[in-house]
Amino acid sequence: MAWRLLGNVTMNSVSLSSDAQFGLDNLTVSYQRRPAIHHLSGRFTLGSSNAIYGPNGAGKSTVLKALLGLVRPDHGKVICDGIRTADIAYLPQASDIDRSLPITVADLVLTGLWQRIGMFRAAGKAGRQRVSAALTTVGLSGFEHRPIYQLSGGQFQRVLFARILVQDAKVILLDEPFNSIDAKTTEELLALINQWVLEQRTVIAVLHDEQQVRNHFQHTLLLAREMIAWGPTHKVLTPTHLQRARMNVAVWDEAPPVCHRDDAVVTAS
Ligand code: ADP
Ligand code: MG
Repeated sequence: MAWRLLGNVTMNSVSLSSDAQFGLDNLTVSYQRRPAIHHLSGRFTLGSSNAIYGPNGAGKSTVLKALLGLVRPDHGKVICDGIRTADIAYLPQASDIDRSLPITVADLVLTGLWQRIGMFRAAGKAGRQRVSAALTTVGLSGFEHRPIYQLSGGQFQRVLFARILVQDAKVILLDEPFNSIDAKTTEELLALINQWVLEQRTVIAVLHDEQQVRNHFQHTLLLAREMIAWGPTHKVLTPTHLQRARMNVAVWDEAPPVCHRDDAVVTAS
C-alpha cells in the first residue's frame, strides 16, 4: 500500500448517533413521467459498506440523487434522520463532471471545505495543509497547481477522493468510482474505502463489477428499477436474484412499466 492513509488530515468524530437512519420509504422517482425507480423501501446499514448494484439503466444513480435531494420523489420519501447535509459527501458519475473547467487540483479539492468554511472565505494555512495532506494520501503530492484538464482519468478520480477526504463526511456516496480507471488506482481507492469503513463512516457506492461488490461491500441493494433484494451481500447476489435483475430491465425496455413488488426480498442483516 503506497499511500499514507489519511495523512495529517484532522478528523472529526465520524460515527452517527445510534438512532440515525438513512433509507427509502416506498420511493418512486420518474423522468418525464416514466418511473426510473419505483416502490423502493429499506435502510442502508450505517457505519458499513453498502453497494448499489444492477444493470445499466436500473436506476442506481437515481437512488443516489434521491438520497441527496437532487431529484424529487413522485411517491414515498427518503428517510434521513440524524444526518445533516454537511455530513454527506458525493462523488458523481464521471460523465456528470465537466473536466474542462480552468481550475487547479488544489482549488477542486478545496471545494470539499466549502461547507465548513463558506464559499467566499479564504481557506487559510490550515485548509491548504489539509488539501496537501489529502493529495499525499491519494498519491498526488505536488500536483496542487496542475490544471484538472491535464490529469489522466485515474489521477482525476484520485483528486475527487482527496476532495472527499478533506470533507471528512460521515456518509459518503460514490457513483461508479472505478469506471474507466486503471487496476492499480482501483485497488488503492478500494483500500481507502475500506479505511473509511474501519473509521465507521457509511459508504454507499454504485458499482457495476460484481466481484468488487462481493469482495469489498458488506451490504447490497440489488436494483432493476424495482428492488430485487437488499441485505447482506452474500444473500443478495444469488444466481436467482441476479437473473431476475437482468430480466427485469430487459422486460422494462420493451414494455410499459409494471410493478412486481411482491417479488422483492429484504434479507435480515
Ligand atoms: P443507472 O445509474 O442504473 O444506469 P440511472 O439512474 O442513470 O440508471 O437512469 C435510470 C433510467 O432513467 C434510465 O432509463 C435513464 O435513461 C433515465 N434517466 C436518468 N436520468 C434522466 C434524466 N435526467 N432525464 C430523463 N431520463 C433519465
Ligand atoms: Mg448511473
